[in-house]
Amino acid sequence: MTDIRDETTDGFRATFGYEPSGLWSAPGRVNLIGEHTDYNLGFVLPFAIDRRTVVALGLRDDRIARVASSFADEVVEIDLSRLDPAALDGWAAYPLGVAWALGARGADLAAVPGFDIFVESDVPVGAGLSSSAAIESAVALALNDVWQLGFDRPQLARVGQLAENEAVGAPTGIMDQSASLLGEKDCAVFLDCRSLESRIVELGLADAGLVVLIMDTGISHEHATGGYAERRASCELGARMLGVDSLRDLGVDDLPRARAELDDVTFRRVRHVVTENQRVLDTVAALASGGPRSIGDLLDASHRSMRDDFEISIAELDLAVETAQANGAIGARMTGGGFGGAAIALVATEDLSRVQVAIDGAFAEHGYGVPDTFVVTAAHGASREY
Ligand code: ADP
Ligand code: MG
Repeated sequence: MTDIRDETTDGFRATFGYEPSGLWSAPGRVNLIGEHTDYNLGFVLPFAIDRRTVVALGLRDDRIARVASSFADEVVEIDLSRLDPAALDGWAAYPLGVAWALGARGADLAAVPGFDIFVESDVPVGAGLSSSAAIESAVALALNDVWQLGFDRPQLARVGQLAENEAVGAPTGIMDQSASLLGEKDCAVFLDCRSLESRIVELGLADAGLVVLIMDTGISHEHATGGYAERRASCELGARMLGVDSLRDLGVDDLPRARAELDDVTFRRVRHVVTENQRVLDTVAALASGGPRSIGDLLDASHRSMRDDFEISIAELDLAVETAQANGAIGARMTGGGFGGAAIALVATEDLSRVQVAIDGAFAEHGYGVPDTFVVTAAHGASREY
């Protein structure tokens, strides 16, 4: 953490030629369970990870906003009076989209000063760990502070989502920003995507001698926008045909009727969402009663459901999951939107290196690209660093 904070301050100084007035950071997240349930207004259980995006900010005495990132060569500059989500593109749509979204949610942007922002991060991009929510949440918290807007964290999560939906143009739910803003150390965020109520849930991983291993296939999910939109459309179709507003209104008891009334593909999409919601509830209950060692079967079942019913897995994700399971993992599943990205495995510390070596070996044997495997811990949410 120290390194990246210093790098952010250095980057700010080198880019803008003065000292930032503060540093804010927000974590990426991994979703423990509850996939493609968010936009169906169901349940998710993500946690904030110990990889963060750091934002250094200085206020200006004019109305100009400039954003720079260690990921990009250019400094993007805009007049705050001319912020238009449709006109934003590239990476700068994330931070500048947040500035716009704060205004769209009620902040008086005509009354605020301009700013300079420099962004540094150790959240891997496009690996399903939500580097996008990390940058949105860090910027949202920073601007909320320096502009003294008084939004609370659930409101800031909605600001980040609005920026991603309107300025970036990605039709994503509220999960990522909620995890990044509300996460707590050693805990997950149990989020009801209909009421937007959230509850902190103790994970107890360290006490149980467990870690969460990220197995990043290195395959970007970026080209999968079509698949994501198609799954959303299937869910909407299923809900409409079954006469409910969203799939959240269905339980496992409704599945026989769903099978009778829907075509096979739509039925399987619906079955994934309905059973996944139940698995999130079961995971929260199991964590409380039996601790993290008791959730392995739920993780495994979640993966099967995404592979066979929702059909968003790929061969590399299946191999990572199966190899982890065969080498002692307590449970494993792909995580994130699918079609690439990463899988997670819940692993006892003593089995960690065996699992990692086995995954490297299995990928080499299949002629797949070298996967990146690393441990994440459940970390605190967005914060002001100084
Ligand atoms: P992820 O799964 O990592 O959230 P997304 O495609 O949703 O993948 O978001 C990644 C995009 O977010 C990047 O392509 C970039 O435009 C933007 N982004 C994330 N982190 C940074 C950063 N530190 N600096 C600049 N842009 C970033
Ligand atoms: Mg993202």
